[in-house]
Amino acid sequence: AKSEGRNTYYYYSDQLTAQARQRLVLESRLRQAIKKQQLRCYYQPQLDIKTGSIIGAELLLRWQDPELGFISPDLFIPLAESSGLIHLIGQQVLQQACIQGQAWLNEGLPPITLAVNVSVQQFGRGDLEQQVKMVLAESGFPARLLELEVTESALMLDEEKVVLTMQQLRETGVRLAIDDFGTGYSSLAYLQRLPLDILKVDRRFIANMTANTDDRQIAKAIIELGHTLRFEVLAEGVETAEQLALLQEMACDYYQGYYFSKAVPAEEFRRLLLQQQPA
Ligand code: C2E
Ligand code: CA
Ligand code: CA
Ligand code: CA
Repeated sequence: AKSEGRNTYYYYSDQLTAQARQRLVLESRLRQAIKKQQLRCYYQPQLDIKTGSIIGAELLLRWQDPELGFISPDLFIPLAESSGLIHLIGQQVLQQACIQGQAWLNEGLPPITLAVNVSVQQFGRGDLEQQVKMVLAESGFPARLLELEVTESALMLDEEKVVLTMQQLRETGVRLAIDDFGTGYSSLAYLQRLPLDILKVDRRFIANMTANTDDRQIAKAIIELGHTLRFEVLAEGVETAEQLALLQEMACDYYQGYYFSKAVPAEEFRRLLLQQQPA
């Protein structure tokens, strides 16, 4: 039994070592990718449910490593968060959004909102407001066209601090969105204190909306809750016409999802915008 225990121990520790090594390799590749600006921002269109026109886009990072291939943000974002690299990445995405957004405005394209994901680490550090102000000033991009997405789980930081950070960000003129809504535990009293503009209903409620009555009722309740709190509501992960029709009935304001388009490179998004511009 004793030797078995030892074997188990060695096996376990070997595995940990392999995992740790893999992590280190990935982290150093990520560091390089950031330096060489190999992380690319893709744009997922956001649409007005009533009119069907594009009103914005969410920036989603894509990383194609020359050797490792495509690496999912679900893998490298947590790594970036635990290694501190998220601050560099977050800064790059924010800059990219404002520079690209301003370039499209200069071209005469219709003004749209660009939404950027903000990790809890960035949100909690205390210098986000300064960073946002600087990027806006340098790019000339109007604050009201920049939206910051904070996940509901990030709101679980110290309540007073969250409220203060949001108020400060709001004063810069940017819009604030709460991401993955419905997956956290924010109380109504708390939500009411937050200067939010928009709730993004988590796609897990949208996914089963047509098949599952509970999920449909939850989606409906979240939309109504958002409106009661005077927020706008966007449904994420809309994949079918059926889902869209239900959301229309529920008076949801906006949607994004594969039904219209996945996240696409800037040039392709620009073409989508041009297509809907009246000649
Ligand atoms: P998220 O912010 O919830 O982003 C939405 C995710 O849902 C994206 O996955 C998007 O491609 C996917 N999606 C969009 N429409 C559909 C649909 O109709 N059906 C399905 N099944 N999925 C859909 P992605 O791009 O893999 O990103 C995963 C997560 O990585 C994001 O979740 C976000 O938390 C994080 N992330 C991505 N880019 C950034 C970034 O620049 N900064 C930070 N902090 N996080 C990022
Ligand atoms: Ca998001
Ligand atoms: Ca989301
Ligand atoms: Ca997510």
